Amino acid sequence: MENTTTYTISKFQAARQCKCPRCRTGAMFAGSLLSLKGQKMAKYCPHCQLKFEMEPGFFYVSMFVSYALNVAQFISVCVATYVLSGQSESPWVYLIACCLLAILLAGFNFRYSRVIQLYWLTPNLSFNPKYYGRKKAEDIKLEA
Ligand SMILES: [Zn+2]
Repeated sequence: MENTTTYTISKFQAARQCKCPRCRTGAMFAGSLLSLKGQKMAKYCPHCQLKFEMEPGFFYVSMFVSYALNVAQFISVCVATYVLSGQSESPWVYLIACCLLAILLAGFNFRYSRVIQLYWLTPNLSFNPKYYGRKKAEDIKLEA
């Protein structure tokens, strides 16, 4: 009897690792998260050839996701600054803390706003187990 159980990584784990939402195998971004050369997103999944930017302007939505992430981070850092600075009333302290955080987390927000959009805000895109794993897109086409 053939073992048909296939192991796949969870949706959250794949999103955290910035893997392609369809195959959960190919990397969406070239380079590391902490790269100083800037963030570069692949046009196509290196594994299943999914085109990430499905239509022109597709990633405008990720701007709003990025905005929401930034607001959450600003609120968090302002509360932390308030507590750690002994309830400072100077607006400059909060402004500097927010600016530093925005610069530090720019790469993180760029990546994860697109990941959140592709994983949770694109209804016609879901995981397809036939693409998962080591098989390349050409092999899958040959089998079909
Ligand atoms: Zn893929």
